Amino acid sequence: MDNLKQLIREIPDWPKPGILFYDITTLMKDQAGLAAVIAGLQTAVKPEDVDAVIGIEARGFFFAPTVAHALGKGFIPVRKPKKLPAATESVEYALEYGTDKLEIHRDAIQPGQRILIVDDVLATGGTAAAVAQLVEKLGGRVAGLAFVIELDFLNGRQKLNGHHIHSLLHY
Ligand code: AMP
Repeated sequence: MDNLKQLIREIPDWPKPGILFYDITTLMKDQAGLAAVIAGLQTAVKPEDVDAVIGIEARGFFFAPTVAHALGKGFIPVRKPKKLPAATESVEYALEYGTDKLEIHRDAIQPGQRILIVDDVLATGGTAAAVAQLVEKLGGRVAGLAFVIELDFLNGRQKLNGHHIHSLLHY
């Protein structure tokens, strides 16, 4: 897995000074790299332990539908505000400055359904924790969370209440 790191482009001071941005577009355009990522993410859970897969807008959408398909499940989008057309449930979460909001269709998850959450990077964990809350608000259960990259030094997992976390690469 660690040879995948060579395919990830590191951009210092983007989108602002002090952030080292991990650009996964260079990994995704590599056929073997993309195949390895999808194969790795789908081992986060056994197919029999999950009912559906959530992707978080926007970079989670790069992977989640393919992972869902590989597991033989459906895909559910969690989107930024005012994008979903039917009745939604929403969650607000803290950013470094201010707050942000994410939404899901209220009928996307049935009570008791087990959900795998997929995103590209686990950083502070704020986004993933908010999505886990959305799942639970709708009566679903978090079967696990899968990330391409986990930034260990930011301790994002501490926000995820002991949920099962599967990260392919650690920095
Ligand atoms: P967080 O809520 O802090 O865990 O941030 C998660 C989101 O921010 C992920 O969906 C990533 O897309 C993005 N992100 C945060 N830090 C980075 C980084 N250093 N490189 C690339 N993406 C990042």
